[in-house]
Amino acid sequence: MVCSMFLFYSFIKAWKSDPGVIQSTPEQRFRTIIELAEKDGFHPNWFCSSCLVRRPLRSKHCSVCNKCIARFDHHCPWVGNCVGLGNHKYFVLYLFWLLVMIIWCLHGCFRFWKFNVGSEDMPLSSYLWQALYYGGYCLRQMRFRFWLVVWLAMTTNERMNCSRYRHFKRDKKGVIRSPFHRGAFQNFLDFCEWQCCGLFKIDTRDWKQVYDSDDEGEASTLIRSEHHYI
Ligand SMILES: [Zn+2]
Ligand SMILES: [Zn+2]
Repeated sequence: MVCSMFLFYSFIKAWKSDPGVIQSTPEQRFRTIIELAEKDGFHPNWFCSSCLVRRPLRSKHCSVCNKCIARFDHHCPWVGNCVGLGNHKYFVLYLFWLLVMIIWCLHGCFRFWKFNVGSEDMPLSSYLWQALYYGGYCLRQMRFRFWLVVWLAMTTNERMNCSRYRHFKRDKKGVIRSPFHRGAFQNFLDFCEWQCCGLFKIDTRDWKQVYDSDDEGEASTLIRSEHHYI
């Protein structure tokens, strides 16, 4: 019961939270278009022609939701929502609790099969095989997402398309590195947004408002606030 409460909590947060939709008023869109027309142009790397907004670093337009999402990870049909800045940690938490619940189900199935069903009469039920299959799938998904955010400091989208982003550069071995990598432990804290009452310093950049990275590969905080447009 406790596990299922955690599971439903994380699922509802992943399902209903704002994943980080880039909002803008008609006035802001108007100003952005004028500014880009006069300076940088409308390159798809920094301008979304569907939302008519300047695209922050790490954001992507979701073709399912038809919105730009800050620190976009992927669109998840299972939770019926984009996974991004606002709900990424809840999504990983949801995978974790799902795995815990599947293990409980498997445990229950085995006990039932062992004590109530004659093993000679009845082979392992298809339900049990399904639980095993989904358990394995869930474990793989959770390990993959965790490995991405903690060890590589990348979202799923960045991992798949890193060669297309200028701020992801190759190291001496030719491996593409994330400029947002700050060590596995720090990446974990950043991802969970755990400051532990000020004990740890986490990355507090607002990924809805960071637009550029410098040439060194470090993400700079060129913040284009509303004041910029006034
Ligand atoms: Zn868009
Ligand atoms: Zn989406």
